[in-house]
Amino acid sequence: MILKSINPHDQSVVGELEVSSRQDIKRAVKNAKEAFSSWKNIAVKKRTDYIKKYERLIIRNKEKIARTTTLEMGKPIQQSLDDIDGELKFLDYYIENGPKFLAEETVYKEEKKHFRVTYEPYGVCACIAPWNFPLSTADSGVIPALIAGNTVILKPSEYTSLTQKLVIDLLNEAGLPSGVISLLIGGGEVGEMLVDEPVDLAWFTGSTKVGQEIYQKCGRKFIKAVLEMGGSSPAIIFSDANLESALDNFYWGRFLNCGQVCTSIKRLFVEKPIYEKVVKLFVAKLKKVKIGNPLDQDTDIGPLVSKKQLEVLKSQVADAVLKGAKIEIGGRQPSDKKLQKGNYFEPTILTNIKPDMRVLTEEVFGPVLPIVPFKTEEEAIRLANNTEYGLSAEIYTRNLKKAERVAKQINAGTVAINTDNFFKPECPFGGYKKSGMGREYGEIGMKEFSQVKLIALINP
Ligand code: NAD
Repeated sequence: MILKSINPHDQSVVGELEVSSRQDIKRAVKNAKEAFSSWKNIAVKKRTDYIKKYERLIIRNKEKIARTTTLEMGKPIQQSLDDIDGELKFLDYYIENGPKFLAEETVYKEEKKHFRVTYEPYGVCACIAPWNFPLSTADSGVIPALIAGNTVILKPSEYTSLTQKLVIDLLNEAGLPSGVISLLIGGGEVGEMLVDEPVDLAWFTGSTKVGQEIYQKCGRKFIKAVLEMGGSSPAIIFSDANLESALDNFYWGRFLNCGQVCTSIKRLFVEKPIYEKVVKLFVAKLKKVKIGNPLDQDTDIGPLVSKKQLEVLKSQVADAVLKGAKIEIGGRQPSDKKLQKGNYFEPTILTNIKPDMRVLTEEVFGPVLPIVPFKTEEEAIRLANNTEYGLSAEIYTRNLKKAERVAKQINAGTVAINTDNFFKPECPFGGYKKSGMGREYGEIGMKEFSQVKLIALINP
């Protein structure tokens, strides 16, 4: 069977790959198990040396990776290039710190007693990745898993298999021993079959629905699952905030990557006295945005990844309108003839929002933002927490005491105050509630891929 990668700008075929069969999956797991016995015994520093070579190859292939990403999933080309720069910082961080994080630690010492903690890999790690940041969402599982001594099988998204195959090809080019890293191609059914095999750890980034399915399977097999899932992140803005910089963050926070980011601001809560002003200024800002072919340097917003995702978004907007929402701007596909074949949707702001609208109760993965007024701090916290998700939240105010007070009461893995710039290699990232389990990035993110062993020694 063949998997076609479709350009969301004009529905042309970008490339084709053969879908992995059940035998391919079994073979990949068998090879990864065999490779594990020697890979786990290689010094961590030596393992990071392979990642250093991989990083150099990423730099050399930057344009190609960015272009393939843009062709496959519609991210504006400059954003695809920026993603790679961000990724290089992540790689530098784990290359430098991996050996430190995984070094053994003395936890108890007394005369003849020496008790220490060591970190050991699990075995074969199944990594299942989404499409919205094809390089970094693959790397954030694959790289720490490898450095920690696991062997890895990546199942990329069916929408960005060409980009994610490129990444795995570069890892192999860096000289990783055979079986240490493998790639399986296909949709959800290939991911399902992979998790059904005797893998030792599952790492997943994607939707909450699929994450829950994987978690149930892992539970039955009693293996660990690290899950980075969906979000419906709120932003709260109080009347005393720096409006200009907040609006800038809201723009990027909601419309970067055509609104297809797990931590995108998906619900905006505005204190009553500035509500109308915020809506007006935001609408004015969106009037200047350029929707277009993502390969054009001056494009701000490209197409959505797939027709399916476009239909979901349209139905979420239609539901809101049916229940009384007002479209302040956008709300439809652009009329430009050049964009007719693409999965385009205009950047949209909705007001007059009711609690039962799907734009509040579901994850909205596209350029649509509901804006809701609030009167008190308590109401803002209640509205922000009124979701099954808990990935991230943003708070905007000059009153830092109030910001800290509110931050403590928001149920989310990340709460940002007066910023949306919180993805740093040092900073642990992950969700509360149905946004996930476990963390990526930072020391914690590396240690998710290690088992802790205490060696308690007495010298007789
Ligand atoms: P998705 O859940 O549809 O697919 C993710 C991956 O899982 C794909 O590779 C897919 O083929 C595979 N898959 C699908 N069904 C499967 C099954 N039953 N068993 C095993 N694998 C299966 O998600 P998506 O559309 O690719 O990505 C968008 C979602 O990812 C959004 O919800 C977004 O919020 C989330 N996301 C989360 C983070 C995070 O760090 N929390 C980062 C990026 C994206």
